[in-house]
Amino acid sequence: MKKYLPPITMLVIFEAVAITLWLTKDNIFYLFNFSYIGISISLGLFLLIRKYKYARRIVQLLVGSYMLIYLGLIKGENMQIEGFWYYLFTGVFEAATIHYAVAKIFGPLIFGRGWCGYACWTAMVLDFLPYKVPKEPRKKIGWIRYIMFALSVVFVGALFLTHVGNLERIMFWAFLIGNIAYYAIGIALAFIFKDNRAFCKYICPITVFLKPMSYFAITRVKCDKDKCIGCGKCERVCPMNVKITDNSRKRENGTECILCFECVKNCPKDAL
Ligand code: SF4
Ligand code: SF4
Ligand code: SF4
Repeated sequence: MKKYLPPITMLVIFEAVAITLWLTKDNIFYLFNFSYIGISISLGLFLLIRKYKYARRIVQLLVGSYMLIYLGLIKGENMQIEGFWYYLFTGVFEAATIHYAVAKIFGPLIFGRGWCGYACWTAMVLDFLPYKVPKEPRKKIGWIRYIMFALSVVFVGALFLTHVGNLERIMFWAFLIGNIAYYAIGIALAFIFKDNRAFCKYICPITVFLKPMSYFAITRVKCDKDKCIGCGKCERVCPMNVKITDNSRKRENGTECILCFECVKNCPKDAL
């Protein structure tokens, strides 16, 4: 029973958030929203523990498509980074601001970059591409993410400063066009660099939040040095080039781990 503690804990955390927001904001949507996400993630963790091959993909599809199709396209909530700035600048703590606080700013202190492995709707599509393990060494172009991050602030800031009307509508179109652009760039980069996660490594502006917070994450894959024989298989199968045999927080690409557990599954000595 002890091995099922992670899915149970995750469900309890999400239910606590769901009920707290439902009662404090007097909006039953929060109960539905966070319960759905919590149940999806817990189901995924349960399947992962049962060693079901497609556990992570199921969670990605359940959560990612819910956010993209239901929240984004049907409900018209911009959950992209510009949506976060928009709600933040208007002083509204709902939709994208809550989403960012839970999944991308404070949540990573607990579950690291679990968002990137299990819920992101961009990666949900990119992970279907053929280069699950990078075929080439990592490029030194990660600085592009900071430009993207700055552009998102400038874009929303400019809308406010110029007093453009109908901002809600603009945000909806920004969500639509932004997502199409992300998918197009993400797919192109995956083929150019032969790496499904090239977009995550070099372009995604959300990593500006995710990386520093996940540095302090409680949930981490660790290596049992007594069992490890140094075969290097874990690093060869890692989609994010993490030097997982190094247990220090400063390990190479340590803030890139998306908790996909490919290294764990492939270790011949159960050292991870
Ligand atoms: S790095 Fe960005 S695009 Fe990639 S999974 Fe994380 S949030 Fe999604
Ligand atoms: S796959 Fe396992 S045994 Fe091999 S280097 Fe990694 S942790 Fe060590
Ligand atoms: S393979 Fe291991 S180190 Fe690499 S991202 Fe997945 S869980 Fe993290």
